[in-house]
Amino acid sequence: MPFLLDLPTRDLEQIFSDLNLPAWRLKQVRRWIFARRTFDFNAMTDLSKDVRATLAQHFSLGRDGSLLSSRLVTHTGSSDAAEKILLEFPDGHCVESVLLRDDRDHRTACVSTQVGCQMGCVFCASGMDGFIRNLTRGEILEQILRLNALLPDAERLTHLVVMGTGEPMLNLPALLPALAEITSSDGFDLANRRVTVSTVGIPDGIRAMAAAHVPYKLAISLHAPNDVLRSEIVPQNRHVGIQNVLAASDDYFRATGRRVTFEYILIDQCNSSRTHALELANLLRGRTAIVNLIPYNAVAELPYKTPSAATVAQFARVLEEEGIQVKVRFRKGDKIDAACGQLRRAFRARQEN
Ligand code: SAH
Repeated sequence: MPFLLDLPTRDLEQIFSDLNLPAWRLKQVRRWIFARRTFDFNAMTDLSKDVRATLAQHFSLGRDGSLLSSRLVTHTGSSDAAEKILLEFPDGHCVESVLLRDDRDHRTACVSTQVGCQMGCVFCASGMDGFIRNLTRGEILEQILRLNALLPDAERLTHLVVMGTGEPMLNLPALLPALAEITSSDGFDLANRRVTVSTVGIPDGIRAMAAAHVPYKLAISLHAPNDVLRSEIVPQNRHVGIQNVLAASDDYFRATGRRVTFEYILIDQCNSSRTHALELANLLRGRTAIVNLIPYNAVAELPYKTPSAATVAQFARVLEEEGIQVKVRFRKGDKIDAACGQLRRAFRARQEN
């Protein structure tokens, strides 16, 4: 039996119709799930007991008896600006998801698209144990719904970033339907422009997303201003090359009108010199783009370090002087291992001990 969140609306309509339930019953159920944060059929009190029982018999239920497949393993940082949850799916695999609040009253969910990652970026904790599997549509949605349910009743998520573990462009068949649901007016109804998908830069995926006519924001993890350095720290670049990534990004901008964000993590003694900044400015000059500078968040097992505040400021200043729009973003929640993949690894290490 399927989990309800894994099914597209048309399949759900068919199931409801096969069960002799009118279409408005499905609307009621969707309202409970997306607007009222209720994931237990038994608590959907405007459905008769019979209808609730029928639904519970025709969809898979999680260990807690709800329609969510996952189990909440840990929830950390609840008093902080960043909260993190670790979810375990029925096959025993875990993913992490983060809720970020900022002083502009943004409440942002950051979700994973894969268990592990095959991109192998040398500075990142997510890929250290390789790739395990893609998440399903429902598993992506569950992360969003569970993070939203952490908020007080009067608040809801205002933004979604697909920047957790995994490479989103390699799981578009699950990701695009999940995003369609979360942006649909009878789903969670989040605006397209408040959804950002972050990619290592896979041209085919970027173009597929452009062709889907869903103008989400696109962020590209550039991290280096030339192919020699980028291929060293983002191995995927060996197969693609920066110019091909930029060409796909230009196509995305043309197709959607959305300004592309280039993410650039600043790693000490690696990609953060004045020369790197000038090289980056030359690469991006003339493009409608913005650079997000992110001081590297140190990972215990890895040798890379965060640069000094002065280095970060100098890098930003050089870009600005060269006419490039730039924002410095501090990764919130380093106290809760919020950098990709760190919580899942810590949890697995504890299990193995
Ligand atoms: N695969 C996608 C999305 C997941 S990673 C991508 O590459 O964009 C989300 C972002 O976090 C990427 O920019 C990634 O390079 C960055 N990141 C990974 N580990 C980090 C760390 N320790 N500190 C800061 N940023 C990190």
